[in-house]
Parts: sequence; structure tokens; C-alpha cells
Amino acid sequence: MFFCQRNRLSRFMCPIQHLLVILLIVGATSFAIAADKGAAPSISWNPRQIKVGSPCLFKVEFAGAPSRVAAKWQGRDLVFFFTTSRHVWYGLAGVDIEAKPGNYKLELEATMADGRAVNAERKIRVLPSAYKTVRLKVPDQFVEPDAETLKRIEVDKELKKKAFAHQIPEPQWSGTFRPPLTNASATESFGVRRTFNGKLATVHRGLDYHAKEGTPVLAANSGTVVLAQALFYEGNCVIVDHGQQFMTLYIHLSQIQVAEGDKVAEGQQLGLSGATGRATGPHLHVAARWQGAYVDPAQLWALPLPRVP
Ligand SMILES: [Zn+2]
Repeated sequence: MFFCQRNRLSRFMCPIQHLLVILLIVGATSFAIAADKGAAPSISWNPRQIKVGSPCLFKVEFAGAPSRVAAKWQGRDLVFFFTTSRHVWYGLAGVDIEAKPGNYKLELEATMADGRAVNAERKIRVLPSAYKTVRLKVPDQFVEPDAETLKRIEVDKELKKKAFAHQIPEPQWSGTFRPPLTNASATESFGVRRTFNGKLATVHRGLDYHAKEGTPVLAANSGTVVLAQALFYEGNCVIVDHGQQFMTLYIHLSQIQVAEGDKVAEGQQLGLSGATGRATGPHLHVAARWQGAYVDPAQLWALPLPRVP
């Protein structure tokens, strides 16, 4: 008992008991630090200022290595993926062109390697975007379709629905998306409110490029062709699924040069531009879509994205 005399507690403890108390304190402290690290992932997004119609890349960094990371964003399920390190997870998403500006929550849920669930939440401000209104003149059949055409439009709807429902659990894109045309200028057309022949009002959910008939149209990133055929409004249309419900659409083509099911590489030729379907003249209409949300293709080309191995 000769070295347990300094205070009342020590008086009743032998050296082994001292060691046990120290081990308990150290153990509890390191557990608390580990739990704290796991509980507070760092969440960031690009662009820093998200607007209506913006694509966005979420990045989540963990101290630990989760086995799964998912989130709710804009009422949709977003599944994250990692590239080289299990500590850093990404999710490519967006805000629909017709969404309301305001505060939206990103609700994150991760499952850590030990099965523990980690939840985090961020309130993100979605800023408004200003878009103009234009009046367009197209052949009357596109504004007031007859019964036979209406039947065709219904068939098209089903075809598109099937293509949009395509599921690829992992990203097939890798690195930044590229414009589908080389040496062609885009018009300021995304998000424009349009009237056709003064009657029909729609929001233009894609980006139009000035392109002479027959200009090669290239895949914006790698993916799988989920639709490649003629539709009434779109004309010759190609849809590429880049994985996790992120798709690009190429519309009004004069010629399609890929088939449904084809795997395409970034920059691979999909077809030639044209003026098929509801078009006022030769041009390429390209759209980018995440789970039914249409985002600005020009902003997508400008968004730096990681390489996916
Ligand atoms: Zn267009």
C-alpha cells in the first residue's frame, strides 16, 4: 500500500487498479473521438452557388471508410460512389429547370464499415435563374396533332418512359462531360419559355447548337445507348445513360449511327445533326437529365468531375 497514499481514491487502489482506470479513460476517449469523426462527414458541392437548372456534384469526406453512402435531394434518391479512396464519396445530381428557388435539404445517410449508421443534413439555398420567353412558328401538325399523330405521341411516351427507367447502379461517365459538337456555338436557349404558333407554352429543357445538317454529333461522356430511333417531336433521337440515372439526349438528328444497348465512349460519334421532328431548321438539341430533372448542358460541360476508374 506504500504508493497508494496521495488521495482518498488512491488509498483504495493497488497499481493494477490504477492501470485499469487509465486504460478505461484512454479507451473511452478514443471511442468518443472515433464516433465523433464518423458522425461529422465534411459535405461540399460544386458549383458553390446552385441555381435552378444547375447540375451539381456533391462531395462527402469521411474520417472512416463507409460501405454505402446515399442521400435524399430534391425528393429523389441519390446514391454516392467513391473513386480512389473509400473516404471520399461523390454524387452527381442537379436541380430541375422548373424547380422553385429556395432552401432544400440534402439528407445524407452513410453505413460505416462496422455497420454503424451516420446521418448528416445540410440546408442548401437554390438561387433563381432568369430565362426569357420567345415565340416560335412551326408546322401546325406539331401544335394540333391529329388522332393518328396523337397515337404515335403516346407510343413515343412509352418508349421514352422505358428508356428513362433504365437502371445502371454505378456511374459509367468518367471525368468532365464535353460538348457534343466541335466548332459549333450554342444558343442561349436553355430554360427559355416558348410559345409555338402562339398556342402551346413549354419550357425549353435543352440547349440548341447552330449546326449545319450532317455535322457529327459526339457522346458527351461514356455510357450506354438506351434509345436510338425516330420519335414524333424529337425526330431522330439518341439517349445515352451515363449511369445512376444521369442521361444525355441528342435530338433532331438527320442520321443515327448507334443502336440501343451499344456502349459508347466519350467523344464517340452517335449520328449526324439535322432538322427532323419539331424543329424550325437544322440544329442540334442536346439535353442533360438526372432522374427526370433537366439541367443546363452548358453548365454540365463546365463542371469539373472526377475520373471514375
Ligand atoms: Zn431545342
